[in-house]
Amino acid sequence: MNEFIMPIIALVGRPNVGKSTLFNLLTRSRDSLVADYPGVTRDRQYGFGKIGPCPYWVVDTGGMLRDVERLDNAVDQQARLAVAECDAVFFLVDAKEGLQADDYAIVEYLRQQNKPFYLLINKIDTGDRDLLMAEFYALGIEQTHGVSAAHKKGVNPLMELVLSDFASDYKPNDEIRPKRLNLTVIGRPNAGKSTLINRFLGENRVIASEVAGTTRDSIAIPFTYDDQDYTLVDTAGVRRKSRVDAHIEKISVIKTLQAIEQANVVLLMLDAHEGIGDLDAHLLGVAVDAGKALVVAVNKWDHMNDYEKFKRKDELARKLHFIDYVQIHYISALHGTGIRDVLKSVCTAHAASFADLSTNQLTTHLQALVHKHQPALVSGYSVKMRYAHQGGKNPPIIVIHGSRLSHLQASYLRYLEKGMREKFGLYGTPIRFQLKESS
Ligand code: GDP
Ligand code: GDP
Repeated sequence: MNEFIMPIIALVGRPNVGKSTLFNLLTRSRDSLVADYPGVTRDRQYGFGKIGPCPYWVVDTGGMLRDVERLDNAVDQQARLAVAECDAVFFLVDAKEGLQADDYAIVEYLRQQNKPFYLLINKIDTGDRDLLMAEFYALGIEQTHGVSAAHKKGVNPLMELVLSDFASDYKPNDEIRPKRLNLTVIGRPNAGKSTLINRFLGENRVIASEVAGTTRDSIAIPFTYDDQDYTLVDTAGVRRKSRVDAHIEKISVIKTLQAIEQANVVLLMLDAHEGIGDLDAHLLGVAVDAGKALVVAVNKWDHMNDYEKFKRKDELARKLHFIDYVQIHYISALHGTGIRDVLKSVCTAHAASFADLSTNQLTTHLQALVHKHQPALVSGYSVKMRYAHQGGKNPPIIVIHGSRLSHLQASYLRYLEKGMREKFGLYGTPIRFQLKESS
């Protein structure tokens, strides 16, 4: 049996054709109400989506292909990397504007890439569909897809078609907690990932071997620590390291996304000197979106003076506020300080993501929380929350039944989330809420 690896779809096209609109549509998940913290999930370039028969990653190469004549400049490298590493390309054109010279240039580029690509003729929302699409036949692509990202038209059948080949090995989230815990360590080059991993492996170091049967070269290293079995899902950043290219090593975001997807728990490693960068924040955002349990390790703590420590802690508390349920450890991979506690938090987060929550307990606690702090009235009527039950695991899904639930504010949902977390010890894992209207 093959292991399911989430397909990656890259969105390519001129500016303003609708890539980010489509990106938002493809990555908007119905059950992540609480995960949508302002500023975190906005302006993302990498997203997790669930429309169609299996989940997938979307990469918005937004604007990077702007200057197709200069594809080899540094800015375009990321877009090229995305195209090279993805499984399918959505090439968007704009039906309102019509066919442009740059569209030809992009098609020419894509043809050389040997990747399946789909021509999406976007903004087909008014006018004669066939007429609007006809002009693009000049691109010489047989099968074209008329869509409207803004009006959500044509996207579902498209995803059915595109994903059908990938979905055969897909099994929806296992509800049974696996004995062996899949862990991935992510972070920028030089954060200390390899040093930490060598600590984990200790003397029982196992020679890394390529996992057969996957088209993409992912690596899995088994190890045992304090009686818990782990599989280390390797990231490119660690594996690619060789004496020769250590310094020019580039982070492959897509490889990292795949490692995140395969993991039960994601360990983000930061260099205490550097703090948290945009890329770290992005990766955290996608891990949260994908429902992954998380732990943060701030490394090289041995190398910091007291003032630096104080400043770094303060900064991280602010920047990681949106995941204040995640344990942050200050460690030294080099000296082995704090390693055991990191793995303890990993186990705690893993257990929390598979927690069993009874309807009785959830409902009782929901009522206690509501009693303590009532939601705001909606035009004089109160929002009613009647009962709650668990709708899934990994991550925990709490389904709330009641009336006028759509009026619940994000701040109130965060209050419920916090209350549920504290009561049931759900630390280190995202929680999803689903609201079910019943009269
Ligand atoms: P990007 O630069 O390719 O990411 O394009 P955007 O997603 O920012 O979209 C550019 C403009 O096109 C925005 O004003 C969108 O609202 C608009 N747009 C996107 N999709 C559609 C569509 O399906 N129909 C129409 N009429 N407008 C759209
Ligand atoms: P990676 O690129 O994330 O795998 O990082 P490495 O594990 O190769 O570490 C990068 C550099 O940081 C190496 O020179 C390590 O010796 C150093 N380093 C790793 N952990 C620590 C630590 O805890 N303290 C200090 N002072 N240096 C560290």
